[in-house]
Amino acid sequence: MPDSAHLRLFFALWPDPGLGQRIWDLTRGVVRASGGRPVIRENLHLTLAFLGKVDAAMLPELRAAAAELHSPGFEFALDELSFWPRSRVLVIQPGSCPEALPGLVEGIWDAMAPFALECGPGKYRPHVTLAREAGPLPLQSLQLQLSWQATEFCLVSSVTDPGGARYEPLARYHLLQATSEAGRE
Ligand code: ATP
Ligand code: MG
Repeated sequence: MPDSAHLRLFFALWPDPGLGQRIWDLTRGVVRASGGRPVIRENLHLTLAFLGKVDAAMLPELRAAAAELHSPGFEFALDELSFWPRSRVLVIQPGSCPEALPGLVEGIWDAMAPFALECGPGKYRPHVTLAREAGPLPLQSLQLQLSWQATEFCLVSSVTDPGGARYEPLARYHLLQATSEAGRE
């Protein structure tokens, strides 16, 4: 039964439409080969922090707390495909990422601390889920050119529809632009 008093919330990096399309295009072959259920293109994202079930009345304060974060933007590459056997998901993840990414995640959890949420920080593995109920990856190499320039992050509500999860963005937060030293006095 829908519960209007609560929301299922998470913070995420959302690819802009161009990057979302590139992720989609470059991974169709491997998703098909995995035999898994593809995540639809509109749903592709990288979770930063999953908050779980949250009292809807807390939303304004929670949004305000997130807006207080002043984390720097960063860039990383999605360049590693993996099959995670326990959850049977096919994912694409950064082989390496700048400190600013876990730094943002830590900042979000620090900002959420006053809310006594049901979920908290755990082991963080940044990834984009491509398919669920997948099988092990076939032996193949995939040339990936997926550079992600993170300039903002979002607060998203996850609505469970009969056809699967539907994500509704509730707020966007800018990340600070890197200041270039070039051209400065
Ligand atoms: P569904 O659960 O309906 O199959 P979903 O997993 O995409 O779909 P949610 O469960 O609402 O939808 O999850 C939203 C996002 O948060 C997803 O990226 C999901 O992987 C992540 N997530 C969900 N539960 C947790 C958790 N306990 N810890 C960390 N991340 C989580
Ligand atoms: Mg889920």
